Amino acid sequence: MANAKGYAAESADSELAPISFERREPRPDDVSIEIDYCGVCHTDIHFAENDWGVTQFPVVPGHEIIGRVTAVGSDVTDYKVGDTVGVGCMVDSCRTCSACETGLEQYCQDGMTATYNGEDRHDGSITYGGYSDSVIVSERFVVKVPEKLDPVSAAPILCAGITTYSPLRHYGVKAGDKVGVIGMGGLGHMGVKFAKALGAEVTIFTRSESKVAEAKQQGADHVVVSTDDRQMEAAAESFDFMLDTVPVQHDLNPYLNCLTFDGTHILVGLLESVAPPLEAGNLVFKRRVLAGSLIGGMPETQEVLDFCADHGITCDVEMIDIRNINEAYERMKKGDVKYRFVIDMKTLKAA
Ligand code: ZN
Ligand code: ZN
Repeated sequence: MANAKGYAAESADSELAPISFERREPRPDDVSIEIDYCGVCHTDIHFAENDWGVTQFPVVPGHEIIGRVTAVGSDVTDYKVGDTVGVGCMVDSCRTCSACETGLEQYCQDGMTATYNGEDRHDGSITYGGYSDSVIVSERFVVKVPEKLDPVSAAPILCAGITTYSPLRHYGVKAGDKVGVIGMGGLGHMGVKFAKALGAEVTIFTRSESKVAEAKQQGADHVVVSTDDRQMEAAAESFDFMLDTVPVQHDLNPYLNCLTFDGTHILVGLLESVAPPLEAGNLVFKRRVLAGSLIGGMPETQEVLDFCADHGITCDVEMIDIRNINEAYERMKKGDVKYRFVIDMKTLKAA
């Protein structure tokens, strides 16, 4: 077992604090990674505060990991010491089901192993995430960070990026399509960049008039204030795709009404019941599709990094000292981040 240092929550109401813990022994297919940067995702807060009632404490969050390879097992073929690599939301899966066989490990029929708060499939230990100096991961769940990509702003691509890229690709967004992006946080701002890079005409939907200028800065062609009935009426039946990144309950009906016939509304943020209820007629009369999507598989996670390198796409980040992680959580809860915090892991040494 290797000693690791990190930041953990010991209980739902304790702040994150330094922790020493043991990483599992490397296996023949494992890559050992020294972590340089780790993005901070809203999911991290949900786990640290046990919002979903499934957290095993202590929890070391973090699933937007960028680092360098320090050792490889005897079976590793794709990585060597010194490579810059990434690890996203999962570190293992059954590898044999039909989902895994097609590179869609996030939909593993036996359940993927999450990067933190997951259960290791071999020894039953609990996985610890990237708010740490090191991590050990099977090479199948490691991706290469292209040289052209800035490693700091690459970190959030591993969750926020792939979460928005995957559905846009799966549903075939292409040049000339009209895409609406609902929400303009970590996910939304990446969704805008990808939809633009795919050639779409992109509209950001925001609830507040005061955010229109910011939405334009994100690169949107148009902005619709969703609380303005007149603007929503003008947007009716004109969109091919709607990328919905909102993580809290919201009325889907006005947005469905913005889709053209055969249009698709993709949920990537909402994990609870839809409320107020859906008017099924909004789907039936126009053959519209309401869909959901979860991160992306390992081949597609590599693809999105390469796509970002080729198109000069980066995430807008604010780098933080890990000693300020609790303050960062408070700011995120208030929506006060443009658009993703990334922890500089060098600061862990001083913690
Ligand atoms: Zn995440
Ligand atoms: Zn599987």
